[in-house]
Amino acid sequence: MLRAIQILGSSPSSSGCFSLPHKLKKPHSNFSLISRKPIEATVPNLSRAHSLAFQFRQGCFFRAFQMSYHHSESTLDGGSPSSSSSTSIAIQSAGSTRKINFCQWCGGPTKHEIPDGEEKARAICTHCGKITYENPKMVVGCLIEHENKILLCKRKIQPSYGLWTLPAGYMEIGESAAEGAIRETWEEANAEVEVQSPFAQLDIPLIGQTYIIFLAKLKRPHFSPGPESLECRLFALEDIPFDSLAFSSMLVTLKLYFEDKKVGRPKFHYGIINKRPGTSPSEIHAYTLDHHLKC
Ligand SMILES: [Zn+2]
Repeated sequence: MLRAIQILGSSPSSSGCFSLPHKLKKPHSNFSLISRKPIEATVPNLSRAHSLAFQFRQGCFFRAFQMSYHHSESTLDGGSPSSSSSTSIAIQSAGSTRKINFCQWCGGPTKHEIPDGEEKARAICTHCGKITYENPKMVVGCLIEHENKILLCKRKIQPSYGLWTLPAGYMEIGESAAEGAIRETWEEANAEVEVQSPFAQLDIPLIGQTYIIFLAKLKRPHFSPGPESLECRLFALEDIPFDSLAFSSMLVTLKLYFEDKKVGRPKFHYGIINKRPGTSPSEIHAYTLDHHLKC
């Protein structure tokens, strides 16, 4: 990973885009959310109102509404988007605590109880008493449009072997979301890109994942399959293989982009992908996109 970062270009971008190894010094957009409540308190309230508005700094409004692509089957975005992370996600339970049997601090056996002052069961070490907490994983990736086509990678790894995805994978400790997206694009498509703007944040609470997808452009018109890809190809919007995508998150991202492009330029989207547990990861079309906000 680090080697890949070093390989990438270091010249400053003249377009205001972001490319490694430069750090993000300020947000690319005016995404200073002005909310009267902490976000933790605000989000649940969305379930009671489909038309909440969040005010942004320059008079831009985030209008919330419910948007549904509900199909007959449910699915679970199980599995890791990229094998580059040693931590695979294989959750089968609906947003509940995964079974942690051993303490991350001393290796002792754990018990699962609700600690005083908390509301969720935690893995508590029976030897040292420390708690091993679980938190969602961040998945970062790039949506790259080149000559009016979108770059997709056909997965060479499980899950979803042989299906198409945007280049994306787990964010690593020590890197920003944009750096991670650039790195994953390099690893999966041998493509050097500049991040232009955030396009979507999609939460999947059921499996403890949050996707951040950036719009990016190729620094050079070269790409080829990385070790995790069978093939990398540019697809015209009308040719995107919506029935052969690897994950619901990719389906949502590409649909949002497709819809944006039909009416103008891409917006920024936030949404929660809700799916029922117990269905095959290959059933990507069954979900609801709830609390969809766009700006
Ligand atoms: Zn311990």
